[in-house]
Amino acid sequence: MSTNADLHQRRLAAVPRGVANSLAVYLERASNAELWDVEGRRYVDFASGIAVLNTGHRHPKVIEAIKAQLDKFLHCCFQVTPYASYIELCEQLNRLAPGPTPKKSMLFSTGAEAIENAFKIARYHTRRAAAIAFHGSFHGRTLAAMTLTGKVQPYKAGFGPMLPSVFHAPFPNSYHGISVADSLAAIEQLFKSDVDPAQVAAIVIEPVQGEGGFNVAPPDFLRALRALCDRHGIVLIMDEIQSGFGRTGKMFAIEHAGVEPDLMTVAKSIAGGVPLSAVIGKAEIMDAPPPGGLGGTYAGSPLGCAAALAVLEVMKGERLPERAVRLGERLQTRLHALAKRGNVIGEVRGLGAMVAMELVRNGKADQPDAELTRALVQAAARHGLVILSCGSYGNVIRFLAPLTIPDELLDEGLDKLEAALKEVTQAASQAAA
Ligand code: PMP
Repeated sequence: MSTNADLHQRRLAAVPRGVANSLAVYLERASNAELWDVEGRRYVDFASGIAVLNTGHRHPKVIEAIKAQLDKFLHCCFQVTPYASYIELCEQLNRLAPGPTPKKSMLFSTGAEAIENAFKIARYHTRRAAAIAFHGSFHGRTLAAMTLTGKVQPYKAGFGPMLPSVFHAPFPNSYHGISVADSLAAIEQLFKSDVDPAQVAAIVIEPVQGEGGFNVAPPDFLRALRALCDRHGIVLIMDEIQSGFGRTGKMFAIEHAGVEPDLMTVAKSIAGGVPLSAVIGKAEIMDAPPPGGLGGTYAGSPLGCAAALAVLEVMKGERLPERAVRLGERLQTRLHALAKRGNVIGEVRGLGAMVAMELVRNGKADQPDAELTRALVQAAARHGLVILSCGSYGNVIRFLAPLTIPDELLDEGLDKLEAALKEVTQAASQAAA
């Protein structure tokens, strides 16, 4: 039998350090919201492989759809001999996307690829080059996505030069004292001092920042961006890669604000674990690039389409967006109670089941505790719980359990979290004493 330690030694020798692992826990199998490692240890999964498994690990309906597709064909390339499941999925995405304007969709494989293509489509449509994105945002690791990302370490430093004409504005954040008015004023300042709005192709924003710390964009900010884009002919791109597919209590987080984006990028939970992503957008904009301008050998793979169609059925059949609201309430109640017992949880926030807690020293927003956060991730794993950190200062724990997690398992996970937090805070205060 391989042990976690053996595999980790081999990993260190064979795989570059650039791809970081948050845990040296090597997976053997998984089911819904539970994982088992190669040593037979069981874990409650509050990570979902970074927001990919809103329908849980190996949902039976998703597995069934994938198995049925395996017996038909694995690959043919949509650009060569197209297939019905791709069309069916695009039709469904067009219907699900918010707003009355007719939509078209195109499929890809990864989140970064969806972002790259949304930006290309916006550029072609507007014949402009520039873009505005936000501090703390994460849009992927390819060139345009990395340039749009609003965090230098570890995503951009040393990988330059970035694309020209991409500017960043502050994302509203009440906990850190950035108001909607501050963010809007910063964009107006960019238009004054850095870039003519008539040269801006797109504004790209996550309605709830994922890697940035589960910061929820206030609805009035998103509505103001909509008005700003309309005024200047800028394409509003909503990155729903982490916030989409029921996570926030609606199919897409932007629905909470009642805003119709021009383009929307989706990925992660769209296909229950099979790599798939999409750009969904207003038909007129989506149709701007000419035949051959968009595509990809694997874009919209048959396995991905089959899995995604099953995911959408499960979302509807099991009412997962509604379940997300209840899960979010249960999570927030427990976390608020935990926060009251000490002064390390500075804020508990979220939208639906997209919930996070920010860890600080002395209860102070301006004293982020990345060290405690790192220790908590490791301690939680020792207690049999997989959690993820995030945030511009690495001091936020985000909760991304499958929306299909039973209440008892959620509670078990939270018990483990509580035990791990107690352990690391005690260790920290002993070290300080
Ligand atoms: N956008 C957002 C909001 C994301 O959370 C991520 C992935 N964490 C991406 C884009 C990039 O997706 P991928 O890793 O599939 O390229």
